[in-house]
Amino acid sequence: MSPSLVSAAGSWLYLWERSALRGKGPGRTRVEQLASKSMEEKQLHRALDLTRNARRVEFFTGAGMSAESGLDTYRDAETGVWEKVDPQAMASISAWARDPEPMWAWYLWRARLAAQANPNAGHHAIARWVRLEGVDKLQVTTQNIDDLHERGGMADTTHLHGNLFRFRCTICHRPWKGPVNFPTEPVARLSPPTCPLCGNLIRPDIVWFGESLPQREWERAELGMREADLVVIIGTSGVVQPAASLPLLAHQRGVPILEISPARSELTPLCEFSWRATAATALPALVSALESEVTGG
Ligand SMILES: [Zn+2]
Repeated sequence: MSPSLVSAAGSWLYLWERSALRGKGPGRTRVEQLASKSMEEKQLHRALDLTRNARRVEFFTGAGMSAESGLDTYRDAETGVWEKVDPQAMASISAWARDPEPMWAWYLWRARLAAQANPNAGHHAIARWVRLEGVDKLQVTTQNIDDLHERGGMADTTHLHGNLFRFRCTICHRPWKGPVNFPTEPVARLSPPTCPLCGNLIRPDIVWFGESLPQREWERAELGMREADLVVIIGTSGVVQPAASLPLLAHQRGVPILEISPARSELTPLCEFSWRATAATALPALVSALESEVTGG
């Protein structure tokens, strides 16, 4: 993750809140409501034209995918004891080396919040898309560190930036399979366990600033982009490198890219069509339409 992740996610969410207010205000006239309805239908039809014949679909998701589940990226944990904490200070190996206990407590608390959140209608819709007739392969690559795709039905999700529910040794990288005591309320400090192999501290298996992305996951994501005949980008600002460069692999081959995002992103220029909607509204509508085309309903 780069430092831009935090600021980008912040501004993205701000725009989302503004557009949501504009669209749902009670003061809209009947004409405005009808115009908006017809606009929504037009957008759905454009998305359908792009997606109905796709056989190998690569999903690329970011913070906007989890927003409607109530997870607000780094800012989730900014309550109580964490109010004054700079999230960026919680994502570097130098901070870990200096004082690991606040970071261990902070990540376990974030994991607790993620575990309490539920997958939204967008997550469930992707799992329905896999089962559509004619779809040979559907893969999800996410920059999110929660497990909402998995719990929404996509058990085999690729995590480019790590996973809140996995832990490993800081030095020898051995995965930690022992118990982890997730706090039931935010606490300022917790002691991480130590590695049974080398005695060093167990850390969250999250990609911190300046660290490289996990190789196997990166290769899998690249392959997905190289093999796909449709890419669907959801809720990502497209500023976090190197992840944001992945859709270029598909774009260079002339593969259509559909973006679902309430706001324009850095990836919008690569996209055949950008549907200005949230994941939990657009995806269920699109998948239902694809399903009814298959069944002729
Ligand atoms: Zn170790």
